Amino acid sequence: MSSGKRVLVAGGAGFLGSHLCEKLLTRGYDVLCVDNFFSSTRRNVEHLIENPRFELMRHDVTFPLYVEVDEIYNLACPASPVHYQFDPVQTTKTSVIGAINMLGLAKRVKAKVFQASTSEVYGDPSIHPQPESYWGNVNPIGYRSCYDEGKRCAETLFFDYRRQHNLQIKVARIFNTYGPRMHPHDGRVVSNFIVQALKGEDITIYGDGSQTR
Ligand code: NAD
Ligand code: UDP
Repeated sequence: MSSGKRVLVAGGAGFLGSHLCEKLLTRGYDVLCVDNFFSSTRRNVEHLIENPRFELMRHDVTFPLYVEVDEIYNLACPASPVHYQFDPVQTTKTSVIGAINMLGLAKRVKAKVFQASTSEVYGDPSIHPQPESYWGNVNPIGYRSCYDEGKRCAETLFFDYRRQHNLQIKVARIFNTYGPRMHPHDGRVVSNFIVQALKGEDITIYGDGSQTR
């Protein structure tokens, strides 16, 4: 049965987004999944299409979006280096302009809004493991900067919309996550280990193997 609450999941066809859509539907929410399929395919949410409480919309969050919802989860952003370095300018736009549009939407409809941030906001950290109070050590001009700095700017926007417009926000700094529907060529450490193990290849140890991330 529907709870009557409408939830927008931006980036909802991605690895994490598709699981979130599933979970929200199980909890009785109406789910609007918005995605431009830059780093995912419709296949991730194919099994949800028949659900009358699920709606799929092809849309790029760097363009304004006018819909009526009660909650917003913003996960729209390519997460793996292979994907986010393919078109770095679009990656920064997605994080920054995408955040502005999601926050503007949240402000207009008075919705709670969640941002999927990342451990990458700590950059190349000098403290291990990183406490939330650590501000990071980030290169603003490198190959990873489009992702790291884009996500940092998105966090700034979220906290300024909270201070300036009284928005209800949540920001989660997600660390490496793995599981079903993760792209086999994602390029991150856990999927690399799994793919190498499945192929019977030697495992590539990063550094001396003592790192926590
Ligand atoms: P993913 O690439 O599978 O999902 C991202 C989704 O966003 C994809 O479906 C992609 O098509 C969509 N997208 C990209 N640009 C868009 C745009 N301009 N407009 C609309 N949709 C767009 O990645 P994921 O692993 O599911 O990550 C989801 C979120 O969580 C991302 O914001 C990512 O930065 C964050 N995150 C993930 C991890 C992890 O370990 N997976 C770690 C830290 C943070
Ligand atoms: N926006 C949107 N959907 C909405 C409301 C706003 O996409 O329902 C976009 C809008 O186009 C603007 C951005 O969100 O570019 C920020 O909106 P806000 O109202 O905070 O700022 P302003 O319009 O004053 O620049």
